Amino acid sequence: MSRDRSGSAPPSSSRVEILRVNDNEHAVVRFLSGYEEYGLITHLVRRLPIPCPGAALCPSSYHSALTIWKGYAPVEMYLPAVQEWSPRVLEITEALEESLAGRELRGEVWHISRPRTKAKGNKVLGVYCETLGEEYLAKPFKCLPVLLRFYHVTSLVLGTPNPMPRTVILPNSKDVIPHLPEDMLPPAPHEQTAEERKKVAEEIRKAGGLGKMAQAAAERQRRAAEGEQPRPGKGV
Ligand SMILES: [Zn+2]
Repeated sequence: MSRDRSGSAPPSSSRVEILRVNDNEHAVVRFLSGYEEYGLITHLVRRLPIPCPGAALCPSSYHSALTIWKGYAPVEMYLPAVQEWSPRVLEITEALEESLAGRELRGEVWHISRPRTKAKGNKVLGVYCETLGEEYLAKPFKCLPVLLRFYHVTSLVLGTPNPMPRTVILPNSKDVIPHLPEDMLPPAPHEQTAEERKKVAEEIRKAGGLGKMAQAAAERQRRAAEGEQPRPGKGV
């Protein structure tokens, strides 16, 4: 089947908005250009990102708050239901930028996702898929008006590179085994036996579920911390 759909019905128009990939969301995008032009520093103030106007103009209470870099790039997001590419301004996090850094990006198709592995601070992941030829690519559009509306400001300090250093990755070594007294060796990871698993499952069932078990443990800890003796008749 041909991938070229340019001869079919004319595509619809979209209001260009920020594409932010949240927990458990994913998107397929093709880059119209890189993000270097649109890097900026934000401060997290009352959990809201406030763009930094530069040290001279930034309120000192904001400027000393947590600093988070964000980048933006003009992209098109693929809409599978209508088989269209829709223009968006992709928000690039510090983590995603590590995968994108140093690449051409124009024409590159990426799968962007944020798997939820913990309650807060899940990382945005990017996987390169393919590079499309110029015949499929619109000219990059200006992201500035979209960013000004998004942050509700009339100017922004842009073009700031990600100040976070790259993740340090070094190889492990596998050569000699150290001579140590046996009791100083760290224990080998313990694999639960079927018998042990059964015992744990029985304890959880007796306690009325994991939630109740955790509640009871927390209560015991609280009492121990306060030096309080468990009161008779109020079993937990
Ligand atoms: Zn600032």
